Amino acid sequence: MFHIFKKAAQTHLVTIGYPHAPARIPENFRGAPHFDFAGWRDARPAAEACPTAAIRIEEAAGRRRVTVDYGLCIYCGQCAEAGGGAVKITRDFELAVRRRGDLVVSAEYALEADGSQGELIGMGSGHSSEIETLEPLERKIRDRIHQVLGRSLAIREVDAGSCNGCEIEIGALNNPVYDLERLGIHFVASPRHADMLLVTGPVTRNMELALLKTWRATAEPKMVVAVGACGISGGIFGLNYATVGGVDAVIPVDVFIPGCPPRPHALLHGILLALGRMEQRPR
Ligand code: SF4
Repeated sequence: MFHIFKKAAQTHLVTIGYPHAPARIPENFRGAPHFDFAGWRDARPAAEACPTAAIRIEEAAGRRRVTVDYGLCIYCGQCAEAGGGAVKITRDFELAVRRRGDLVVSAEYALEADGSQGELIGMGSGHSSEIETLEPLERKIRDRIHQVLGRSLAIREVDAGSCNGCEIEIGALNNPVYDLERLGIHFVASPRHADMLLVTGPVTRNMELALLKTWRATAEPKMVVAVGACGISGGIFGLNYATVGGVDAVIPVDVFIPGCPPRPHALLHGILLALGRMEQRPR
């Protein structure tokens, strides 16, 4: 027993201060790729290297549109190796967003005779005017949810067909380092006791009905957070005979957390974003 007390005294406090203190991210952590659209001369090698088609190229009438979808990105870094210096892997992890379109950025260029990119004509994101007009109503509902749920939250985790990479990171939220309960948030065993569903996986067709039933069994007001590239878009699995291609193909999603898998800090940011206790970071 004395040995245990001695060890505890030697270890001191291991729990992180995030979100009240800045996160300390390891040097070798691989976060989101950053694209220097203004200086990018040729997106073709990066698009060819990307295993999930997160970088797409469309050409028409002497112009090239390059689109990057962070909802498909698995942070593999292949684009940085092929991108000719215009793509860099960062340690950014606060990437969660409320709208799927906020994960999509695009740039349009004049096309040179040799197939490279010339002048940058413009940049945009995936926002659509329809989504913009819905925003005041969305905000009203969200404010109401925040009032009702207050500062305490019960989460039911739903594995809708993931490889369990996300589950390992979600499990870490309960350890002494991340200690989710210090924020008044805890995991529960039944959707009937939950305020939020934290859903992973590309939603296999075998889990589609189970996910729908779990969502219906969760009392209102409720929130849904889609975790990881698979939960957002189907990731490397996409849409095929066995998967439906993302959580929002089955149930409405309030917050999307990119990553493959998202590290615990990223999960914390996304959960607190859904609760209105953190802000969405501009891309
Ligand atoms: S880091 Fe993302 S965008 Fe870059 S190659 Fe990998 S999946 Fe594609």
